[in-house]
Amino acid sequence: MVLIYSNEKNLTLEMLAKGRELADEQGKEVTVVLIGEDEADEYIQHGADKVFVAETDLKNFKVEEYTQMIANIAEKLGSETIMIGSNKDGNELAPRLAAMLNTGCVTGCTDIYFKDGELTTERVVYSGNAIAVEQFTGKPHIMTIPSKLYDPLPADSSRTGEVTKESVDYKTFPSEITNIQVMESEGVNVEAATSIVSCGRGFKNKEDTKMAEELARLLPGETLGCSRPLSADMKWFTEDHWIGLSGHKVKPKVYIAIGISGQIQHIAGMRDSDIIVAINKDPEALIFKSADYGLVGDLYEVLPKLTAAIKEKMA
Ligand SMILES: Cc1cc2nc3c(=O)[nH]c(=O)nc-3n(C[C@H](O)[C@H](O)[C@H](O)COP(=O)(O)OP(=O)(O)OC[C@H]3O[C@@H](n4cnc5c(N)ncnc54)[C@H](O)[C@@H]3O)c2cc1C
Repeated sequence: MVLIYSNEKNLTLEMLAKGRELADEQGKEVTVVLIGEDEADEYIQHGADKVFVAETDLKNFKVEEYTQMIANIAEKLGSETIMIGSNKDGNELAPRLAAMLNTGCVTGCTDIYFKDGELTTERVVYSGNAIAVEQFTGKPHIMTIPSKLYDPLPADSSRTGEVTKESVDYKTFPSEITNIQVMESEGVNVEAATSIVSCGRGFKNKEDTKMAEELARLLPGETLGCSRPLSADMKWFTEDHWIGLSGHKVKPKVYIAIGISGQIQHIAGMRDSDIIVAINKDPEALIFKSADYGLVGDLYEVLPKLTAAIKEKMA
């Protein structure tokens, strides 16, 4: 049986698509675990056979207690494969779960398939320079899955399934959450964006990124992204704009990289974009290797012209 858990609904739906495929190949069932939530039917419509709703009075995610609950549910249901959403909470939970169930855990899988009848995973290692292909030596198999790797299955209102609601045992730990500080954010969701105009260190100052903003305004969603230095070092953008290995992974229809060199850590976050356009004054810049369209030139000359040309076309 394949068990799926994330405290992010979209991620659960995405994993469900892959979980369904793996379960079908083995003639098994898929169970989605919800903790303290109650919208079970939607998961059945998107491919789950069962939904296990753990009733709890815990108000917020707390890794020690949640790990025990998932471990208890996995043991109770006899789960052989456990897919955990790779977000901050899932990444804390999955290895603890593996330790508790005395098994292995592959984090940040980029592909999962059966090879010679064995579940096989792939993940990017060494900052994107190699792919590790791994198999498990014991069960259950535990994996964390990043967002945007799979598209959710279309909803099928004719699907039926079983919903179980139960409280699950856990012991309380001598730690408590005393304060939750919300991360500084401009409410931008680059992961959901269909087009992104992304700024790099080629911009000389923050004011100049307004040129990128003007281009973004012409595209659906008006979404601005950035490379790590502009968020982590210069603080021109909040972290919700940061794209790459240590930032957000995006998959828009169009990604326009302006003044970004194309280091592997940036590419790792945007390489799945449908169309990549790069503007860089260095013809040897790495970004051009990943780009579908490249504009070699000074962004201060090219960008206003590109924006004006798009405006004219749209008019
Ligand atoms: C563990 C780790 C994780 C990391 N995670 C991330 C991550 O998630 N995201 C990320 O982005 N980076 C990440 N990095 C950093 C990454 O290695 C690069 O340092 C970073 O992506 C470089 O940002 P940049 O391309 O904006 O700047 P630079 O590398 O400095 O490139 C600037 C580019 O602008 C061009 N340019 C300059 N002036 C102009 C102009 N006037 N017109 C046109 N082009 C111009 C230059 O030719 C150059 O190519 C990570 C690094 C490490 C070690």
